[in-house]
Order: sequence, then C-alpha cells, then structure tokens
Amino acid sequence: MDNKLKIAIQKSGRLYEDSIKLLKDCSIEINIGIDKLKTTALNFPLEILFLRDDDIPQYLEDGVADIGIVGKNILLEKRKKVQIKETLGFGKCRLSIAVPKSFKYNNIKFLNGKRIATSYPFLVKEFFGKKNIKADIHEISGAVEIAPGIGLADCICDLVSSGSTLFMNGLKEVETILRSEAVLASHMYLGSLQKMILDKFLFRIRAVKKAKNNKYILLNVPNERLDMIISYLPGIKSPAILPLANSECSSVHSVVNENDFWRIIENLKELGAQDILVLPIEKIIL
Ligand code: ATP
Ligand code: ZN
Repeated sequence: MDNKLKIAIQKSGRLYEDSIKLLKDCSIEINIGIDKLKTTALNFPLEILFLRDDDIPQYLEDGVADIGIVGKNILLEKRKKVQIKETLGFGKCRLSIAVPKSFKYNNIKFLNGKRIATSYPFLVKEFFGKKNIKADIHEISGAVEIAPGIGLADCICDLVSSGSTLFMNGLKEVETILRSEAVLASHMYLGSLQKMILDKFLFRIRAVKKAKNNKYILLNVPNERLDMIISYLPGIKSPAILPLANSECSSVHSVVNENDFWRIIENLKELGAQDILVLPIEKIIL
C-alpha cells in the first residue's frame, strides 16, 4: 500500500460533501463502499481514509495518513505538528464568542469572571490571555449553544457561519476569535513517492481553484471601441480578438476574476460592449 498517498477526510459532517467534490473536480474517481472506513481511488494513486475531523490532526502527525482535509479551527486547536499545503475555499466559518441576547455587552471586559462553554479550550484560553481576560472555561464536546440555556455557562465560544443557530438559542455574537476554512494539511516528512503524488494532486487542486475564481467572458464590440474596452479587460495574458462576419464589430474573449466581475461587466456595457456571454471554467493551467 506504500505506493499510494493516504488522504484522511471527514467521515460525515460539514466537510464531507465538499471533500468528495474536490476529488471529483480533480478527476479522481472513487467508489464509496458500504463500510466507508477506507477506499482506493480508481484512477489516481490515492487511498482515502474516512475519519472524525477531530482525529485527523493526530493521524497526520503520526503519519497514519499522509495528507488530510480538515478545518483550520481544528488544526489550530489541536496543535499537532503538520504542514498546511493549501487552503480549499470551503467549510468557511468563524470561531466566535456569543452571549445571551439580553446581556448588555459593551466591550470585552464584560467577559471577566464569566463561565464560558466551548469545544475550543486552547484557542479561547489563548485569546483571553492576549486580551487580559480572566474567565472560567468549561470544555464540552457538542451542543455548546444550549449551555447558557441550561445554566451550564454564561456564554459560549463556538463555530458560526450564518448565525442562525445562535439566534435560535437566544444568543448574539460579540467577538470573533478566528476565521476558518478547510485546508489540505500533510504529515511533516513524506517519502519521495508520496511527495511526488502530493505535488500532482496539488497541481490539480490549484487548477480547479483558479478556475472556480474566474469566468470566461465573450463580448461583441464595435471596432472603434476596441482599444478602450481592451484596456478594461485583464485576460490571463491578454484578451483574444476575433473578427466577426459583420466587419464593424469584433468578438473579444477574456478571463475575469470573480471578485472584479460585476464591476468589469458594468464598465464594459457602458463602453458599448454587447451580447456578453459568461461561462464557467473547468480548469486553468498556466
Ligand atoms: P465529526 O463527527 O467529524 O467530529 P463534527 O460534528 O465535529 O464532526 P461538523 O459540524 O461536521 O463537525 O464540522 C466540521 C467542520 O466544518 C468544522 O470543524 C469547521 O471547520 C467547518 N464548519 C463550517 N461551518 C461550520 C458551522 N457553521 N458550524 C460548525 N462547523 C462548521
Ligand atoms: Zn468533530
């Protein structure tokens, strides 16, 4: 089995679907068996281990898995020796402190002397240390958000994405201590074959990530506006210009970053671009 790279992913939960999708987007095919403890990719030297996310950092430190997909929040809390290779853009959330809605929270000093329930005792302690807060940290492993309601704590520190769970439990978010997303992490010392497979995998991941952040756009432009419009278009190297049957217009093709996308489209339209088509990109290899 040593001729494969072993990747640990979450067995079920919030990172599972996106982790499987990442493999798929990298054209790595897998069959998920019924026992779902591990499986082997059909067309790439990868063995997939399905684990609880909390256990992944330890497995990576020990080298039981070579690489793994896990939230930055878990990695920072567990403090195992691993290397972060790539951020993956999914599983985005923040680790935040929340207090009951009725509390009059003015500033962080409010937390002095409070009982705070969390599954992230290390990160909370570190944050309070920096802010000079002395609070009583209660570690609990799940359903942290109900702790104030049942009198177990005054406030909590937990992962938040939309904030709806907090809201439903009568809590409000007052401090963010960490922003997190899923990352690809690796064992500190990989063998040379494993390193080579990892490089191939990273190459694919980066091509997929770049493609997701960009759109392919095509537009028709009156020739007298061409120079002006091109100056607004980045393109990967430079936009492509193709003649149209109508000799007064040209077709311009380019790649635009998702973040600048609407601003650029609005400008182009104002400058006289017509028939703008926007297409998703599957992979970008530079
Ligand atoms: P496991 O059974 O594997 O221990 P879990 O219940 O601890 O699962 P999940 O709730 O599935 O974990 O969350 C896994 C990861 O998803 C988190 O560690 C975090 O990185 C990320 N995540 C993204 N958004 C949220 C959110 N709103 N709440 C919790 N985790 C989130
Ligand atoms: Zn977990």
